[in-house]
Amino acid sequence: MDRLRQMFTVVANDDGTTSATRIQRHILGSGIQLDDFRLQTTMERLQALGDTLIDFEAFAALVSDELLMLNRVFRRELVIPDWQEFCTDIETVFKQVAPLVSGNNASYIPILRDADPEKWGVALCSVDGQRIEIGDVDVYHSIQSVSKPITYAYAIEKEGTDFVHQFVGAEPSGRPFNSLELLPDLRPFNPCVNAGAIMTAGMVASSWPEREAREITTEIMNLWSGLCGDCGEVRYSEATMLSEKDTADNNFAIAYLLRGGRGLPRDVDLHKMLDLYLSCCSIEMTASMLAVAAATLANGGVCPITGRQVLSTEAVKKTLSVMQAAGMYDNAGVFTLEVGLPAKSGVAGAVLTVVPNLMGFATFSPRLDPCGNSVRGVAFCRQLVELFTFHIYDSLSGGRTGCKRDPRASQHNRKQRDLSDLRWAVSHGDRYALKVRDLLLESMVAITLADGEIEEPELETMAETYAEIMGHPPEHGELQAMALSRQSQIEAIDSPDPFEQLLQHLATEQLQLDDNARELILEAAFRVACADGEIEPEEDVQLRGIAGALGISEGVLELEIARFQRQRAGERAFPVSPW
Ligand code: GLU
Repeated sequence: MDRLRQMFTVVANDDGTTSATRIQRHILGSGIQLDDFRLQTTMERLQALGDTLIDFEAFAALVSDELLMLNRVFRRELVIPDWQEFCTDIETVFKQVAPLVSGNNASYIPILRDADPEKWGVALCSVDGQRIEIGDVDVYHSIQSVSKPITYAYAIEKEGTDFVHQFVGAEPSGRPFNSLELLPDLRPFNPCVNAGAIMTAGMVASSWPEREAREITTEIMNLWSGLCGDCGEVRYSEATMLSEKDTADNNFAIAYLLRGGRGLPRDVDLHKMLDLYLSCCSIEMTASMLAVAAATLANGGVCPITGRQVLSTEAVKKTLSVMQAAGMYDNAGVFTLEVGLPAKSGVAGAVLTVVPNLMGFATFSPRLDPCGNSVRGVAFCRQLVELFTFHIYDSLSGGRTGCKRDPRASQHNRKQRDLSDLRWAVSHGDRYALKVRDLLLESMVAITLADGEIEEPELETMAETYAEIMGHPPEHGELQAMALSRQSQIEAIDSPDPFEQLLQHLATEQLQLDDNARELILEAAFRVACADGEIEPEEDVQLRGIAGALGISEGVLELEIARFQRQRAGERAFPVSPW
């Protein structure tokens, strides 16, 4: 079928027509917003059509100008193809983190001390401009230290890397953000600690000798607007700035130290430098806006929702490197260890995180841990990376990730290819493929036998599951034979518990199995255990046992169970196979 026809079929009703509402709903389902710049013409045309029914010819004319983008949207070929599923997982993590109430608001200025500590929001934007927002994503708050990497990027663009790094280092400091300590050559450790950010502000301030700090701040706010694709108004809080100035003794101390050490860039005025630094901290944005800015960084400087190159890829590379090394205050090392992503937090409660080439996200929750990072923000990042292969080193080839999910399109296609290879290899007797197949059968039989003898309907369920996964029904009598041999083991008086035996077997074999194979085995067990539509307590224990023996992380299993329960509630079709 012609591609255009295929696209039409996706949204066509039985009578061969469609409607503007249906098309818009389909677009929204892909994660793309209706005001996306790549779909402007189509949206205008849809608007003009109103309730008119749209036949194939009208559809072809409607989509012709933005066909490439619409083709990707309709075929679900955006960077996160199964957007709905991904969003539901994000919501699950959002809810898991919400009950955390430890930590305290920053209290050094009233505006932060008095902020509502209950606020909790997560916004996320993919490099294809797919967006999800949950909770308090529209609350304006000062960006504080989140400003630091962007002022650094601005300085790199304006002055070049060599000039910038004459004045500031790129070493993690391992010290609190406001420490007065410097590198042995008297440069600040990096642009993300106060000393480094004050120095960066000094460089920028010195490059505009004729302008006031506040005017230069407008330049930086313009950069922020570009980064967030103008999806909201970048604001400035005079009240925050005044309070910051009132409480800036430590920052003044740093500034004098810098001036007395190596000196300031182009002998810039110390007060102008501090004013610019504190003004940048007083810029106000929302999580929704910060998420798009993070996605622009993830996309090499091109804003996904406007298509505009806002920062050079070179500047973004440097900025992300600095964020990776020093973005999370003196917890940056542990954060890299556990989360493995470039991120920057601010004391108002924002965390901006970048998953290069995939997405950016921002969280907002004012309660901070002792390092000054948002408690919920950090927990969200950690939880996300437990479930998805987002840690930079989850990409180690040959590595086993505990069967974390990877929502990327490329991964989706690869898994499909791998499964079809496995099926083909089984049919030709490949040893590895046969082992996977046998373990899968063994797991299904063990689960089914655990509650007594195998009945005819259970055999049928196993055969169906096998056929769905392997692409063809099991060989005649194969399942019965295996079931019988297992059953006789159980009946043999001194035989150890057969389920325990299975777990031991899986635990030994899993060391030789890749993530795909392990997921397949778990999936087979899961489908058989849940065939009656319930997860009984003993089935839950068995599934956890199998997942544990296979080295599949508990979080991933929880996600699978949550998906199953959603399906039970009638939301989505089960099973949700990774393929
Ligand atoms: N305005 C704060 C200061 O300079 C920065 C706070 C932060 O680290 O977010 O002390």
